[in-house]
Amino acid sequence: MSVEASGSALDGLSFALTEEQVLLRDEVRRFAEERIAPGVAERDREHSFPADVLAEMAELGLLSMLVPESHGGAGMDVLAYLVAIEEIARVCPSIAVTMSVTNSVCCWPIVHFGSDDLKSRVLPALAAGEIGGFGLTEPGSGSDAGALTTTARRDGESWVLDGEKAWITNAGVGAYFVVLARTDPEAGKRGISAFVVPADAPGLVVGPPEEKLGLRASVTAGLRFEGCRVDAANLLGEPGQGLKIALSTLDHSRLGIAAQAVGVHQRALDLAVAYAQERVQFGVPIARHQAIQFKLAEMATELEAARVLTRAAASYEGSAEAGRFAAEAKVLASEAANRACYESLQIHGGNGFSEDYEIARLYRDVRVLTIYEGTSEMQRLIIARHLLR
Ligand SMILES: Cc1cc2nc3c(=O)[nH]c(=O)nc-3n(C[C@H](O)[C@H](O)[C@H](O)COP(=O)(O)OP(=O)(O)OC[C@H]3O[C@@H](n4cnc5c(N)ncnc54)[C@H](O)[C@@H]3O)c2cc1C
Repeated sequence: MSVEASGSALDGLSFALTEEQVLLRDEVRRFAEERIAPGVAERDREHSFPADVLAEMAELGLLSMLVPESHGGAGMDVLAYLVAIEEIARVCPSIAVTMSVTNSVCCWPIVHFGSDDLKSRVLPALAAGEIGGFGLTEPGSGSDAGALTTTARRDGESWVLDGEKAWITNAGVGAYFVVLARTDPEAGKRGISAFVVPADAPGLVVGPPEEKLGLRASVTAGLRFEGCRVDAANLLGEPGQGLKIALSTLDHSRLGIAAQAVGVHQRALDLAVAYAQERVQFGVPIARHQAIQFKLAEMATELEAARVLTRAAASYEGSAEAGRFAAEAKVLASEAANRACYESLQIHGGNGFSEDYEIARLYRDVRVLTIYEGTSEMQRLIIARHLLR
């Protein structure tokens, strides 16, 4: 499905969810409200990772949504996955990122680039509830991913990795990581390869968890590779294809971050609507003041725009325009969600600045959405590149 630069993500699309997708959304919503919501504030306060909740989510198939049933996964479509992420993020953005990283940047590249042998060794374990991660960022290379310096050299039937990764979601709780390393120092961006590294590989050392501004119930840490040995068969694709694999993985996974933003945005709006109707100033609920109504209207309008673009972009997966529409969805949804949390907190007045109110946590959690899986600046560069090619 190719679209000209002047085309739209919405051309020829229908937005109705199927009956199955509606059932899934309702089931995930119920699960999030009953099983996730009660512990959210405490886990945020204590920086605690909800392994028990993740185990229940695995049983529902939520950690292997895009893994084919033949490998033990739930075998669902991308739109169903985005709807589920949105519902989880509305209640707990931390669990949503743990879920999206496992599905989108660990399972997804293994499904699409792994050999049959690798898939049958790794995917059933991930489908059964093991958590996954993705190691691209390094202390010296973030946006400039092609500048990474971790190396991998072939030694008999193994690859031996040396180097350091930074800011790795699920480091310390994940069982498998898709890791990018340089296999040919002379070949620049074509000298990078992708590997599946099990967490128990000899020579893999997990650093201390980051003390984060938000998403405190998710784990983020560095990974160090000290002569870390992995099976030769754990290579994804061919040697030298690593950066291409990483970038196409991100073209897919950014939709998950856009859906996470839509979920957070929805919650920020719901909290603002409820508070504005309760809080009385100048003798009336503040919702009666037009300035507050305008904020609510703006939040609702941007929310629907972000949701529509995110769902529409999912239809272009695998096409030449996938990267552009995923970048557009991510930049729109993440920036709109940040504005929504800002305005929702503003509507809460001084109470919004108190951790007793949920909006304070959302305001912290939402901030990273314009940063990880590619900053807003990088998304704009991707979009412009598509327009100008
Ligand atoms: C909570 C969290 C979880 C994360 N999880 C993972 C993970 O699981 N795996 C992983 O690999 N990484 C992960 N990351 C890393 C994340 O993807 C990077 O932080 C992000 O890509 C930005 O890289 P950087 O932090 O090095 O910023 P830099 O690249 O140093 O950028 C700094 C600033 O400069 C801007 N900038 C850089 N280059 C340009 C340019 N050419 N033009 C204009 N502006 C530019 C950026 O937009 C940004 O504003 C995570 C980060 C966080 C905070």
